[in-house]
Amino acid sequence: MKLVEHNNNESFSINDAIWISPNGNLLDIEFDAKFNLQKIKNAYPNLWRYEDAIAINQQEGIVSLNEGFTPIEKIKLNKKEVFIKHEQLFSTGSYKDRGATTLISKAKQLGINKIVQDSSGNAGCAIAAYAAKAQISCDIYLPENTSNSKISQMLAYGATINKIKGDRNDTSIAAWEAAKNIYYASHCYNPWFFEGTKTFAFEVCEQLGWKCPDSLVLPAGNGTLIIGSFIGFNQLLKAGIINKMPKIIAVQSDACCPLFDAFFDIKTSNNKYSSNTIAEGIAIINAPRANQILNAIKVTNGTFIKVSEEEIKNAWIKIASMGNYIEPTSAATIAGLEKYILGSFDEIIVSLFSGHGLKSKSIIEQI
Ligand SMILES: *Cc1c(COP(=O)(O)O)cnc(C)c1O
Repeated sequence: MKLVEHNNNESFSINDAIWISPNGNLLDIEFDAKFNLQKIKNAYPNLWRYEDAIAINQQEGIVSLNEGFTPIEKIKLNKKEVFIKHEQLFSTGSYKDRGATTLISKAKQLGINKIVQDSSGNAGCAIAAYAAKAQISCDIYLPENTSNSKISQMLAYGATINKIKGDRNDTSIAAWEAAKNIYYASHCYNPWFFEGTKTFAFEVCEQLGWKCPDSLVLPAGNGTLIIGSFIGFNQLLKAGIINKMPKIIAVQSDACCPLFDAFFDIKTSNNKYSSNTIAEGIAIINAPRANQILNAIKVTNGTFIKVSEEEIKNAWIKIASMGNYIEPTSAATIAGLEKYILGSFDEIIVSLFSGHGLKSKSIIEQI
């Protein structure tokens, strides 16, 4: 078990309190995941049921809010059956709790007592909640003009909010500066976050009777669920539990689609992308792990789909009319799912409701 550097392939101990390599390269966790299906079957229904497949020792004490093993439901969408994971049902209201439980467990085991994070959205909320549970102090950096209900949620968990003058990029710079002295609990850079998001794959597989779906339709912002699913299904494949990979279909909005453009080799400038979309959670211009996301889509034979504001709104309305209250960002994935199923035939397709509607009252009021 070790931390392996991108580009350079140097490796580091998992006991090193690092989130990026000394050369500034991204890190991944190399780990031989084990699956004892009988043991899993009898284990408690949360994501820690896969303890032998998660590179964190439960005996050393984990930081948990009893997260995961979210329900999977077969729904009919435009006359086709698809499976939806109810990932809006986590304690903080989004699937980011998957990554927060593993990252904060690791931080606690490393003896860290202060962390820094710079998300104005659901990742910030999840990290703040688990830091509270772990009694680790949590500094969150946000652009000065951030005004959303998610800040109230972070404050409720006791996080310290640092508002930075300027734009998202200035906030990033400030967080990096702080991370020279404080452990960076970033959902984009820190590899321990993906150790949690990968359990999405394990749950999907188990809930389908230890079968691999044909396709996964997932949101693409920073790609934490895409990369996690790719790692998770690869580990199931390597362990011989499944014998193929699912195609990963990634969804972006028309307003902000840098990965879609990169995938199809469409040359544009970054100025073209706007965060002016109701799918604010996937309006990410510079995903640090962009190459890893593009690779996951390519090698699984997946594709990118983009959706318009109109399509996102209509998907949100349709899902609400079926009794589900989801974040508008989550509706972008469903709009992409609707497009994907138009061209699919006889496939087992899994997608998700990524976040809860109760979080984004002001955006929902615009729909
Ligand atoms: C984080 C998030 C996304 C996008 O996920 P990425 O990991 O950034 O690709 C989509 N929906 C919700 C509700 C989220 O919180």
